[in-house]
Amino acid sequence: MTVVVVGAGLSGLAAARRLVAGGHEVVVLEARDRVGGRTEGGRLTDGTPVELGGQWIGPTQDRMYELVAELGLEWFRTHNDDGLLLVDLRGRQSRMAPHKGAVPRLGPFALADLGQGLLRFSRLAARTDLERPWESPDAEVLDGQTFASWIHRNLRTPSGRAYFRIACEAVFAADASDVSLLHALFYSHSGTDLETLLSVDRGAQQDRIVGGSVRIAETMAAALGDRVRLGQPVRRISNDDSGVRLETRGGEVVTGSHVVVTLPPTLAGRLEYAPALPSWRDQLTQRLPAGSVVKCYAAYDEPFWRATGLNGQAASDRGPVKVTFDNSPPSGRPGVLMGFVEAGDARHFARLSPDDRRRAVLECFARYFGPRALAPVEYLERDWMAEEFTRGCYGAHFTPGVWTSYGHALREPVGRIHWAGAETAAVWNGYMEGAVRSGEAVADRIGAEVAG
Ligand SMILES: Cc1cc2nc3c(=O)[nH]c(=O)nc-3n(C[C@H](O)[C@H](O)[C@H](O)COP(=O)(O)OP(=O)(O)OC[C@H]3O[C@@H](n4cnc5c(N)ncnc54)[C@H](O)[C@@H]3O)c2cc1C
Repeated sequence: MTVVVVGAGLSGLAAARRLVAGGHEVVVLEARDRVGGRTEGGRLTDGTPVELGGQWIGPTQDRMYELVAELGLEWFRTHNDDGLLLVDLRGRQSRMAPHKGAVPRLGPFALADLGQGLLRFSRLAARTDLERPWESPDAEVLDGQTFASWIHRNLRTPSGRAYFRIACEAVFAADASDVSLLHALFYSHSGTDLETLLSVDRGAQQDRIVGGSVRIAETMAAALGDRVRLGQPVRRISNDDSGVRLETRGGEVVTGSHVVVTLPPTLAGRLEYAPALPSWRDQLTQRLPAGSVVKCYAAYDEPFWRATGLNGQAASDRGPVKVTFDNSPPSGRPGVLMGFVEAGDARHFARLSPDDRRRAVLECFARYFGPRALAPVEYLERDWMAEEFTRGCYGAHFTPGVWTSYGHALREPVGRIHWAGAETAAVWNGYMEGAVRSGEAVADRIGAEVAG
């Protein structure tokens, strides 16, 4: 019998590939007219590939490096060592070495405050249970507060607090007041620690894929051939002892023995199910909002910031773009600056006119790298909140109380319906690594069920 996979993002394609390798019949139903989901390829007018969604891989994301190699793809280092990183905090700019563990140049009080805050956070994070976060020590107390309230209680200086708030926006695309403290701790531990999530060198932003990360999904899909059906938004899933039956918006019907749903949780909750899902599963998906992010690009003839001793990375407490990177291709030509507009800034930004958005982004780039940034050859952006088949990024975050009340329903199958996707991963939750691992783990579970 066929296993039906809903979604041709990394998780769905990794599941399908693993199932096919195990000798199973597979059909992948994808709503969009492309594969890759939250990884998406774009091009500048000169043909330079740009990544509109997820792009980086880094150490300990072992499955991604293996997969990239298995698919015959290559990676390269993020431009990091071409200069210093710019820190723009509380109206003052300073430069710092872009190495893992480096902290901004702050006054002695702020530095001590930040140091003890990071230590406390990492000690708490290391105690979280990755498989069952709700069983971590003091889980209910940690889950009963927001990350913002912890920052307020544990950091004393405005700069220390600003550092943690920017870190939260950069990692979750959500304000610290929206995120459960337990989730912030779990998520950091899931990707090693907060420092790793924020770093380029030896961190989550270390490497990129030659040709763009979407090549991973495209190469997997090419090998799956016509098992992957594009333009097929699933609308309804019926499930009983004899198997599953899926209906698409266009009226196609596909049946199988099992289904793997790889949609972000909110979108999974918007499908129709027969019989209706158990209350705990439905209530879980009512409580997992996606983050808010717009990814913005400006291309220049050359990476002019390098000549001024900067590496194109900025971190600021003033938006709308608070975080930037040098996203130039390996050759370094053209020069490409990429900036994220995140959390509350993104929600405001999305309502501006295209001209006002472009102006606001370029003004941030100019504040960090000088007036040449105001005159790019080209500007592009992708608003992930507006994407019908994603509705926000980088991924879902758990609000207070959700892990402890509903965490058990995240991965628990409902009859023949299995759940995968980056949000269900124990390791590197929310990242491409987590997406691939979750898809392969579910494929193995179904394979064992069918065999047993
Ligand atoms: C701007 C941005 C930057 C990011 N940066 C990074 C990064 O640098 N490194 C990193 O590791 N991760 C990053 N991420 C996160 C990473 O991209 C995701 O974790 C990962 O791609 C999720 O894969 P997935 O398969 O779980 O989900 P998705 O990619 O969301 O796949 C779900 C699929 O289901 C499809 N779908 C939706 N509804 C239906 C329906 N009704 N019927 C059929 N199909 C449907 C969607 O079109 C999609 O293809 C980033 C994400 C974004 C958006």
